[in-house]
Amino acid sequence: MKIETKLIQAGYNPKNGDPRVLPIYQSTTYAYDSSAHLGDLFDLKAEGHIYSRISNPTLAFVEEKLAKAEGGVGAMLTSSGQSATLLAILNICSSGDHILSSNSIYGGTINLLSHTLKKFGIEVTYINQDDDISKLEKHIRPNTKLIFAETISNPALTVLDIEKFAKFASKNNLPLFVDNTFATPYLCRPFEHGADVVIHSTSKYLDGHATVLGGAIVDSGKFDWTKFSEFTTKDESYHGIIYAKDFKDAPFITKARVQLMRDAGAMMSPLSAFLLNLGIETLHVRMQRHCENALQVAKYLDNHKKIVKVNYPNLKNNAYYDLCKKYCPEGGSGVISFLLDGKKDDCIKFMDKLKLAKIVVHVADLRTCVLHPASTTHRQLSESQLIDAGIQPNLIRFSVGLENVLDIIEDLEQALDF
Ligand SMILES: *Cc1c(COP(=O)(O)O)cnc(C)c1O
Repeated sequence: MKIETKLIQAGYNPKNGDPRVLPIYQSTTYAYDSSAHLGDLFDLKAEGHIYSRISNPTLAFVEEKLAKAEGGVGAMLTSSGQSATLLAILNICSSGDHILSSNSIYGGTINLLSHTLKKFGIEVTYINQDDDISKLEKHIRPNTKLIFAETISNPALTVLDIEKFAKFASKNNLPLFVDNTFATPYLCRPFEHGADVVIHSTSKYLDGHATVLGGAIVDSGKFDWTKFSEFTTKDESYHGIIYAKDFKDAPFITKARVQLMRDAGAMMSPLSAFLLNLGIETLHVRMQRHCENALQVAKYLDNHKKIVKVNYPNLKNNAYYDLCKKYCPEGGSGVISFLLDGKKDDCIKFMDKLKLAKIVVHVADLRTCVLHPASTTHRQLSESQLIDAGIQPNLIRFSVGLENVLDIIEDLEQALDF
C-alpha cells in the first residue's frame, strides 16, 4: 500500500459484521475464562490485553497504522510527545549515560534533556547538526547511548541530513532517534534513510485539529540492540525475560511497553486514540494543503519590506532547500518563522493586530496560529541557548492553517501595517 492508503486503511481491519469504523474500547480491563490463559499473558507467552495501562485494542489499531505508515515493526502511543521522548530515552539510558542531541530541537525537549534527565544522572551534549561527521564525532564518549535530532525542527525549521546522521550513528554503533513531528510520515519516513527510532508529538499534524495531546514511539526493527546490556540481560522485573532474545523482531518497543509503560503509566486514553485516528485518516490531504499554503505565505513574507528574513525550508533561498527537496519532496510542511524588522515590542504589536491568526501555544493544526517563542515557549532558555536554537528576540513562528490562503495573507497584510 502507498502511504495515503496506509493512513486510511492500515491498522483496524473489520471482520464480517464488525463496525466499519474503529471502535472505542473504553475499558481498563479484559475478561478471561481461565487463570491459566491470563498467566500465559503475564508470561508474555500469549498475546492479548491485560490492563489498559499497558495496552488497549483501540490504541493497538492506531499503533499498527502508525508503525506501517513509518515503515517500522511496532509503535507505542503515549499521553504526550514529551512522554514519548522521555520513555524512548529511558528505554536505553540510565544514570551515568550520555546523549548527543542536535541543538536545533523543540524547547520542551531541551528542558527535558538538560534539566530533568540531568536529575536522573543522564548527561547531554548539544551539537550543530550541520557540522561534518569528523567534527560531530569528537563529542562521542564511551558512555554515549544515542543520537537525537528532529527531521524539520521546531521552531528553527532546520532540516536534518538524516543519511549523514544515520552514517554517523551506525559508525559509532549508536541508534539514531528522530523526532518526526513536523514532517509527519506523509512528508518523510526517517527509517527509509537509516533512522532507528522515530518519535512523534501526535498533538501536532497527526491529530491536526488541536483536540488531543499525544505522542508515539515507533521502532524500525533494524537496530542491533544486542549491543546494549538492557536487551541481553534478564529483566528481573519481568521474571527474567531477555528482550533481544525473547522478542527478537521488536525488542525496543516491547521493552518500552512491558517495562516502562507498565511503570510510568503515561498512556493515551482510548477516546484520544480514536480522535487521533480520525486525524491520521486525512493527514495526507491536509499536509498537501498545509505545504501549498505555507509556501505561498512564505513567498509573500519574503517580499515584504517589514520582514528581514523568512525561514521556510521549501523556499529556494533557504539554506535547507536541497535537504528539504531530498527528504521532504512533497513540501516543507506548514510552519514558517520570520524575523520582523523591529524589536520584541514590535512583534507584540504585530501579533495583537492579527485577527484570523490567533496567538496560541500550539503549532501544526488546521487553524492558522502565531507565537513569539522568545517571550513564551522558550522563555526558560538563556540568551545563548536561544541563539543556538535559532531563536532571535524578533523571531515569530507562524503556523499556516488550511483556510483560504488569500485570507491568511490579507490578515498578515493588515497586521504588518502598524
Ligand atoms: C510539541 C512538540 C513536542 C512535545 O509534544 P507534546 O505533545 O506537546 O508533549 C515534541 N517535539 C516536537 C517537535 C514538538 O513540536
